[in-house]
Amino acid sequence: MLQKREKVLLLRTFQGRTLRIVREHYLRPSVPCNSPLCPQPAACRNDGKLLSSDVTHYMIPDWKVVQDYLEILEFPELKGIIFMQTACQTVQHQRGRRQYNKLRNLLKDARHDCILFANEFQQHCYLPRERGESMEKWQTRSIYNAAVWYFHHCQDRMPIVMVTEDKEAIQQYGSETEGVFVISFKFLRNFKRFKMKKKKPNKEEARRECTQKSSSLHSLQAIFCSNEMQNYLDNFWPDLKAAHELCDSILQSQRERENESQESHGKEYAEHLPLEVLEAGIKSGRYIQGILNVNKHRAQMEAFVRLQGASCKDSGLLSDILIHGMKARNRSIHGDVVVVELLPRNEWKGRTAALCENDSEDKALGDPPSEPMPTGRVVGILQKNWRDYVVTFPSKEEVQSQGKNAQKILVTPWDYRIPKIRISTQQAEALQDFRVVVRIDSWEATSLYPNGHFVRVLGRIGDLEGEIATILVENSISVVPFSEAQMCEMPVNTPGNPWKVSPEEERERKDLRETHLVFSIDPKGCEDVDDTLSVRTLTNGNLELGVHIADVTHFVPPNSYIDIEARTRATTYYLADRRYDMLPSILSADLCSLLGGVDRYAVSVIWELDKTSYEIKKVWYGRTIIRSAYKLFYEAAQELLDGNFHIVDDIPEFRDLDEKSKQAKLEELVWAIGKLTDIARHIRAKRDHCGALELEGVEIRVQLDEKKNIHDLIPKQPLEVHETVAECMILANHWVAKKIWESFPHQALLRQHPPPHQEFFSELRECAKAKGFFIDTRSNKTLADSLDNANDPNDPIVNRLLRSMATQAMSNALYFSTGSCAEEEFHHYGLALDKYTHFTSPIRRYSDIVVHRLLMAAISKDKKTEIKDNLFSNKDLEELCRHINNRNRAAQHSQKQSTELFQCMYFKDKDPDNEERCISDGVIYSIRTNGVLVFIPRFGIKGAAYLRNKDGLVISCGSDSRSEWKPGSLQRFQNKITSTTTGGESVTFHLFDHVTVRISVQASRCHSDTIRLEIISNKPYMIPDTELFHQSSLLLKSDLVKEVTRSVEEAQLAQEVKVNVIQEDYQKYCQTKGRSLYTLLEEIRDLALLDVSNSYGM
Ligand SMILES: [Zn+2]
Repeated sequence: MLQKREKVLLLRTFQGRTLRIVREHYLRPSVPCNSPLCPQPAACRNDGKLLSSDVTHYMIPDWKVVQDYLEILEFPELKGIIFMQTACQTVQHQRGRRQYNKLRNLLKDARHDCILFANEFQQHCYLPRERGESMEKWQTRSIYNAAVWYFHHCQDRMPIVMVTEDKEAIQQYGSETEGVFVISFKFLRNFKRFKMKKKKPNKEEARRECTQKSSSLHSLQAIFCSNEMQNYLDNFWPDLKAAHELCDSILQSQRERENESQESHGKEYAEHLPLEVLEAGIKSGRYIQGILNVNKHRAQMEAFVRLQGASCKDSGLLSDILIHGMKARNRSIHGDVVVVELLPRNEWKGRTAALCENDSEDKALGDPPSEPMPTGRVVGILQKNWRDYVVTFPSKEEVQSQGKNAQKILVTPWDYRIPKIRISTQQAEALQDFRVVVRIDSWEATSLYPNGHFVRVLGRIGDLEGEIATILVENSISVVPFSEAQMCEMPVNTPGNPWKVSPEEERERKDLRETHLVFSIDPKGCEDVDDTLSVRTLTNGNLELGVHIADVTHFVPPNSYIDIEARTRATTYYLADRRYDMLPSILSADLCSLLGGVDRYAVSVIWELDKTSYEIKKVWYGRTIIRSAYKLFYEAAQELLDGNFHIVDDIPEFRDLDEKSKQAKLEELVWAIGKLTDIARHIRAKRDHCGALELEGVEIRVQLDEKKNIHDLIPKQPLEVHETVAECMILANHWVAKKIWESFPHQALLRQHPPPHQEFFSELRECAKAKGFFIDTRSNKTLADSLDNANDPNDPIVNRLLRSMATQAMSNALYFSTGSCAEEEFHHYGLALDKYTHFTSPIRRYSDIVVHRLLMAAISKDKKTEIKDNLFSNKDLEELCRHINNRNRAAQHSQKQSTELFQCMYFKDKDPDNEERCISDGVIYSIRTNGVLVFIPRFGIKGAAYLRNKDGLVISCGSDSRSEWKPGSLQRFQNKITSTTTGGESVTFHLFDHVTVRISVQASRCHSDTIRLEIISNKPYMIPDTELFHQSSLLLKSDLVKEVTRSVEEAQLAQEVKVNVIQEDYQKYCQTKGRSLYTLLEEIRDLALLDVSNSYGM
């Protein structure tokens, strides 16, 4: 039975007009209540997420509380929250899409114990608005009325606490219904006075009663016996310190904003245009839409807007738009989606090419320095992409100099691209030695800086854990330990209760345990083996190649807690000294790790290949059971391939065999590795023919589980076995991509790598020319060939640097949904394949989990509709791809930043003038107007070296090649830069010249420290014996890590003695933290030339 009502909505438009909207409104006798206490779950149709039954009361926030304190309601510790539809709608109407989406995500998220109750559709809950009643009063009344109904609906068995900021409501409803309490969230204006007045209730007692499961109405009544207005957080969540701090901080920010809006001073910025004007302007082409990208090295002056959406095609602009200065940026912040108006041509400006503070990255853009480019100003912001920012409070002296308004403190974000933020706090002095997280609340046109509030303390400045936490927050990486609910879903595998293959799975799966020689090849010590291989001869003489991947989706059902967590993380994060897994170790290191000698579930791709041409005849996809016979490491497999069988002694699987069976097994294994290599060469040759590129930093396989020592360094020369394994994986990824695309043409997850913009190659071409090489960038094939040929026999670094430049000119490889992209755009440029995806690493990539589910749905014959129901629609998949792409970038950035952190910590305490290791050979790889960029192969460090110092003196190298600073001038040419002193001496630095540099650290309080390079001689750094050099360099690297970890340990010890100011328990964030030398060295080596500012994982 539905009752029709009319509901009047008054909405305010951007111009301040009020719109009256009448909506028809149908009332139902029952709507889902989603309470486990529901007496009629069938009538209520409670088929969604239910509230936990493990709570002492339900909490119903009033609409204003939802609007202003959503951040606090997001604490997963707060349980049993009922969001009333009325409250949600006010958020939607008044706080905009972003906040509303946050609320919707919270409601969807199974990890948060909260539900939505559609009170306005429930016939007994709905209240029409009375004549003369304000919207606000009606909303609060509706929510209270619904709270009472809900209490009775649950048969008065669960007390309800409605929290509101409305004092009158507390007075009016506070004692109206027994069992429904109305209290303040945080008593706002009279807080102080109130605090003094209230007789101290015994908090401990109250809480104990509260948290007792049997807590009843009476215990709650004990708390509110005098019906005093009290504070919800204080009473119910006294231990949730973070929530309390956040609450104080939000309150203070609110108060400041109120005060500010009363003062009226001059406008600092132009007002933003109303949304309708912006939208119309974009449509007509008058305005341009894009994402604001601030230049980190000139954050005050330079920002660029990368065109987006329709603007991209219609504007006819090929380049980004320059936004010059803060006024033109008009309060937009790095990452915001902005609307830009182009300035007339005579006001266009050029970008700067001089080196400046902190410039250590090379842009592959070859624009000449001062050529004017399209320049514009921001007229509006479509989407604010504000996140949590790590900031540093000013030192005591700076606070004093900020003067009169000591309550408002200007803090400096760690990220150079973010403007200073004004924080209202009285704790400035206490916070000055810490990294602190803040959030931006608003940025009014009247205010020079944005206003924000304090969120939490991360750790001490310069402390390893504080700095790592900073890197995590800055990349929006949240990696708390897996929760109990998530762990409960995990299978068990203990000595007492070992995991076994189940009989049902044995029936359903193809059993390869007896028929196939399956083995894995990974870095030494690797514990998460997600791929294995097999090869054998069939009875018809043809070959059969198999790739067997851990069947992760068997253990991770769609939308389970662990699935949601893995989706949120999207990838395993590898930092320099630690790793944050996407999946719990019971899966990643055990049941989904295809270890030797144990039964494991796998998803296999098996090809039948022609015995001579290796042409693919047939392919089979499906679930299997395997038992890997060998867990080989790369070096061992390569030795076997090369016929050096002495390595057998290092392979544990051969240890306890008698000579005869050892011989037989060895022969079998050697044949298999040989055959695989042979096949891989064939497939590779085919791809090469189409122009596959081999680039520096492509598809880095990071495996960080080695806890051994320095001798396990992967050799400098890549082994062919690496390529063999990689080629088989690429083949599997390619065939799975084809399969899922054929089955689900509009909702398959693939990976594309768009061809690069030609103009990005100009620097590469110029640099190569300096060495007499020609780089043909017309196609991936010509590029690959000419890179192969650009080899200086006297200096292998040249080729490495050129490949690195080519990598930087590339676009990013990205995940996408096939429904949102034309087929010709699917192409993977780097691998030269028409279709590609990620299938082979489901343990550490969520994309692969999605692909596994797609493949299973594609090959399942029965229950097809049911399986398909679990697939993402094109739209959802598109959104998911965006999320995964974004998380991958965060993973790369955090990896790079943590490596740089270690490098700086290593050099920080060295005396650059006296320590031998601070002097090193470097190669010039980019020329700027006032200096050069130098790469140091020995440490894998890139950095800037100035040729003109702060006093305006220029570098001069005498006959002994030692450098000195003298008055003079610099002249930059295409591939060289010349410094001439007023005395007439001159020295020229060419691209690819080797020079001797001194390494030091430029310390920074507010940002990360940076490596400083100083050219001390224009000659290479000589070490007599190259062998010796090689060894000493290895030793040095091990010293680097040892020293950093040792000093960190000492510091930690010292910290423990100190008063514990920081509440954070660092340990809980460190899921795996090995003191792995190998790990860090590998990282530094791998990242040596990987510039993440443009990330290119294929
Ligand atoms: Zn119900």
